[in-house]
This record gives sequence, C-alpha cells and structure tokens, in this order.
Amino acid sequence: KTPVPSDIDIAKSQQPKNIAILASEVGLLNSEVELYGKKKAKVTLDALKRLKDRPNGKYVVVTGITPTPLGEGKSTTTIGLCQALGAHLKKNVFACVRQPSQGPTFGIKGGAAGGGYSQVIPMEEFNLHLTGDIHAITAANNLLAAAIEARMFHESTQSDEALWKRLVPAKKGKKSFCPIQLTRLQNLGIAKTNPDDLTPEEIKKFVRLDIDPSTITWQRVMDTNDRFLRKITIGQGPLEKGHTRETQFDISVASEIMAVLALTTGLADMRERLGKMVVASDKEGNPVSADDLGVSGALAVLMKDAIKPTLMQTLEGTPVFVHAGPFANIAHGNSSILADMIALKLVGEDGYAVTEAGFGADIGMEKFFDIKCRYSGLVPNAVVLVATVRALKMHGGGPKVVAGVPLPSEYVQENTELVEKGCCNLKKQIENARKYGVAVVVCINAFDTDTDSELKTVQSIARESGAFDAIISRHWAEGGNGAVSLAAAVEKACKESSQFKFLYDLELPIEQKIETIAKEIYGADGIELLPEAQQRIELFKKQGFNDLPICMAKTHLSLSHDPNLKGTPSGFTLPIRDARASVGAGFIYPLVGQMSTMPGLPTRPCFYEIDVDPVTEEVLGL
Ligand code: ADP
Repeated sequence: KTPVPSDIDIAKSQQPKNIAILASEVGLLNSEVELYGKKKAKVTLDALKRLKDRPNGKYVVVTGITPTPLGEGKSTTTIGLCQALGAHLKKNVFACVRQPSQGPTFGIKGGAAGGGYSQVIPMEEFNLHLTGDIHAITAANNLLAAAIEARMFHESTQSDEALWKRLVPAKKGKKSFCPIQLTRLQNLGIAKTNPDDLTPEEIKKFVRLDIDPSTITWQRVMDTNDRFLRKITIGQGPLEKGHTRETQFDISVASEIMAVLALTTGLADMRERLGKMVVASDKEGNPVSADDLGVSGALAVLMKDAIKPTLMQTLEGTPVFVHAGPFANIAHGNSSILADMIALKLVGEDGYAVTEAGFGADIGMEKFFDIKCRYSGLVPNAVVLVATVRALKMHGGGPKVVAGVPLPSEYVQENTELVEKGCCNLKKQIENARKYGVAVVVCINAFDTDTDSELKTVQSIARESGAFDAIISRHWAEGGNGAVSLAAAVEKACKESSQFKFLYDLELPIEQKIETIAKEIYGADGIELLPEAQQRIELFKKQGFNDLPICMAKTHLSLSHDPNLKGTPSGFTLPIRDARASVGAGFIYPLVGQMSTMPGLPTRPCFYEIDVDPVTEEVLGL
C-alpha cells in the first residue's frame, strides 16, 4: 500500500480546470460570473433571480460527533461526498464550505480545505485572500468602530445647535433629512420628515446618540492572530486626550458583519441587517444601531461584492462554493445561506447541495437548523454525521488527545472495547439530529490505523441507534471513489420524506429557549443564569429582542460546558455566564464559558514554513 502524500503535494499535483469552463458546466451564464483570474470566480445574485422558479435540489448538511481537538473530518467528508456524487455517480452536486480565517493559517495549523484526496483547490488561494471578502468585512467593521468613537467625540465637544447645523446642513437655505436620517427619526418614534417641524426637545434627541461608553459591544477587528490586541487603550493622541477608552480587537471572522453575510438572503436584506446591528446602549438604556450612526449604507457598499459566493473546485473537478466563515461559538459557524440557495437551484431537482456545519452536532447542526434554516426557509433532506474511531475511543475513556503531540497508543492499536463504550456520544448525536425529523447517515471516516473490527462495531451500533444507515468511508485515502457507498446511502436517505421541525418556538422567553437546548441537546438537568446573564437578558427583552433565535457560545469539545467531560455527561447544570445580542445577524448568544475572540501565535507558528519560490512563484509550506 502506498502512503498518502501530504495535503499540499496532493493539491499541487492536480491542475485545476479553468473556472470559466466549470462555471458554464454548472449552468451559469457568462453575465453571472465575475472571474478573479483562472481558478476562482464570484457568482452574482442574478443567477438566483433567473432560476427562482426551478425546483431545489436535495439539501444535505454534514456534521459530526463531539470531536477531538484534531477534527474528525467534516470538511474532508463534505468534499469527498461531493466528489463521489459528482465525479463517480454523475449527479449534479455542489459543496458549500466556509472561507477559513487567515489568522490560523499563519498561527496554529488552520485551513479547512479538506484533506488527503478530498480537497478544494487551489488550497493556497482558498486559505489566503481568496476574493477579498474577509478584507471587506474588516473594512466595514472598522468603519463602524471609527463612527462610534468619532460620534462620541463630536457630541462631547459641541452644543446641540452646532451638532444640528452640521448633521443637517442647509442647502440653498433649506434643511432636509437624508434617507438614513429618516430611519433614525423612525427609531426615535418621531413621525416628521421636515427638519423645520422638529421641536427643540426632538432636535436634542435627534442630534445626541448619548452613547454610554461602558455599554459599547462593537470591537475593532483584523484577520491576524495578535494576542496583544486582546485589550488596548485608544484615544491616546493629544487631540483625543480625555477620550481614552479600553477596548479590544477581535479576529475578523468574529465580526457580526461576518454573521450577517452568512445569514443574509439578498442585498436589500443585508442592508437592513447591517443597519439593525446594535453597537451600544444610550444613557437611558435604548439600543444604538448602525442606522442611528448613519453608516449602514456605507457598510453595505463595502460589502456589495462580498455578498457574491466564490466558485472553486474539488480535486476531482466538481464545483464548490466558498462563502462566509462566521465563528462557530459566538456566531453560528455555518457557510452562507446565499451559497446554499444558489447551489440548490443550480443542481436542480435531481441534484445535491452539501453544506457543512462547524463543530459537533450539538452546536453546528443545532444552529444550522434553528438559526440558518429558520432564516433561509430551506428544508434539509439529510444529515451526514461524521464519526471516527479515534474520537469514539476518547469518549470511551481513552487518554487526552492533544494537537501537535503524537496520539497515545490506545488510538493506534485495536481496542474495540473503548470504541464500543465511546459510542454513547454517537448515539446521543444521532438522537439530536433525529429530533429535527431528518434522516441521519453516519459516515465512519476511516483512518489507516482503524481495524475492521473497530469500524464494524461502530457501524452496527449506529445502525441500531436510529441512523438511516452507517457507512465506512475512505474518501481521505481514495478520493470520491472511497465515498461511493456513502453517496449511495445519502441518495437513498434523501428519498425519505423529511418531517423537518425546529427545536423551539421563537416566542418563548429567552431563558426557556436556552433551557430547551441545554436539556434536549446537551443532556443537562437545567441551566443556571448568573447575574450578568440575567441582567442582559432582561435588557434584551426590554429592548424588544426576545424573539431572536439562540446561538450558544459553548465549547465544542464536550456535550457539556466542561471540555474535559467526554462521552455523554449527565447530572450537570449548564452555567450561563453572560449574554450578548447580534441583532443585525439575528440571534442572542449566551456565553457558557470564556470565549477567546482573538487567537494568539504559538512559539513556532506555521509561518516558519511558509515562503514563495522566487522562480516558479509557487507558495511553499502552506
Ligand atoms: P473538521 O472539518 O471536522 O474539523 P477536517 O476535515 O478539517 O475536520 O479534518 C481534520 C484533519 O484530519 C485534516 O488535517 C484532515 O486532512 C485529517 N483527516 C481527515 N480525515 C482523515 C482520514 N480519514 N485519515 C487521515 N487524516 C484525516
């Protein structure tokens, strides 16, 4: 048996086909394709308009059991399954994946292009700038941050009258509101459109956002792992002295604008969501939004190209959409609704759009159903639940798995007993998926060191535990050919009639929605709301945000809040430390633990390996 070469060697050994050819193969018109060189292209939303009456294809979501820190192969399976469906079973198929953050690419091994013979190519373009969406998000996010600070500065140094004069300047002796100022009036409940009609009291309200600096939740972002920006003091320049404030940088993909991009259904909707983003409260506790700051139109302009998904391809030449990559804890960790929608139209009634949900099924899949599907209105046909022998051994009581350290011997030698014990996690995640009324195909992602007896044990337990089917799959080592049985099982599962339903109703009180997720999906006895969380939840209710879906910010390494508890923890109460609202993206996110939103660099970051060959211009070491 010849060993499988490294990911980068496999990726480089395949010459990608010209992306314009792929675009026409999948039925896109020239006018709907914006080429970025020869290997990637943006697809305009006109395609969606043109195909709006075409029936959707089958909608498949790839998720996984509770993983080890190494990842169990969801991305690899998404790509392998699509290669099998497209290149081997000759079905119309699209893979929809997230764009990875650039930070981890140079830090601790990042990249999410799949692996082995199931990858998106070219991987260096996939992992780096791609078509600039993350840069656009960074620009938009930071424009809003600058707008907040500047507005507070001007309000503190000018009288109401001076503010009024500058905010609503008279043209040819006549004052008039611009459209975004009319939105602000609406938010204030002032039903007037002529500036001359406002009373002095209303003018004061209009010109002063009166932001309470201690309530600002909007942070600056950039896409570099830079731990020294986790806490900073701004406003140290001589002209801003007296306006210093402690704040922080997050990694760009943690920006709410990324979550907006992932959840939007079109340009008008994105514009509206960007405007609704709440950045702080005023001194009376009312929410202050991007609309109030007058900046939402400009944000939409910065994001107008980012809204178009990027077309790429797998190693076997099947199409891939790469679009959006929101954090999987403080956001919902799924690729974009728009990419899925266009893919479902392009593949047509007999085709398949396969999308991936980040983290394990308790997080990524739950958010896929309860947040993403709620906003898209799309109905999923099947869940592919990825399981590995190594993760099941960990759940069965195997020693701790640490990234960057060789696996302990339990993980590379046969131990069917450990695997069998660990299947409790697989069973629970199957049950979780079944709660939504969707058929589950378990994909046992086979590793070189797995034995037949171990793999078959998982297969039979999965089949007895409510899965539609369970398939041993070898797409990492063999590409699409190794996932043909998986693809056939998915085809069959998609023929089942879907009885899709959400886990909770939006109108329930926030606490009750959190409790439902904790009990039903995590297996908790209940929740404990710590005082800060309680206060915030009260505030959100008062501000009119009760009816948003919930996006739990919880560790992915356990079904519980404690990453050390493996298998199916029981007898625990889920502590809710704090809560935040992403009003524009459209969810409340309760914080279960400490969530880092700015990764750091290790002692020997990946960038030590990365270089460019000056002769061939090839990227090395990615
Ligand atoms: P996830 O999306 O679940 O985080 P990935 O698909 O990114 O997981 O896979 C995690 C890592 O494991 C990648 O480096 C990938 O190449 C590797 N991997 C996945 N499946 C296999 C397999 N069957 N054998 C060996 N390595 C694998």
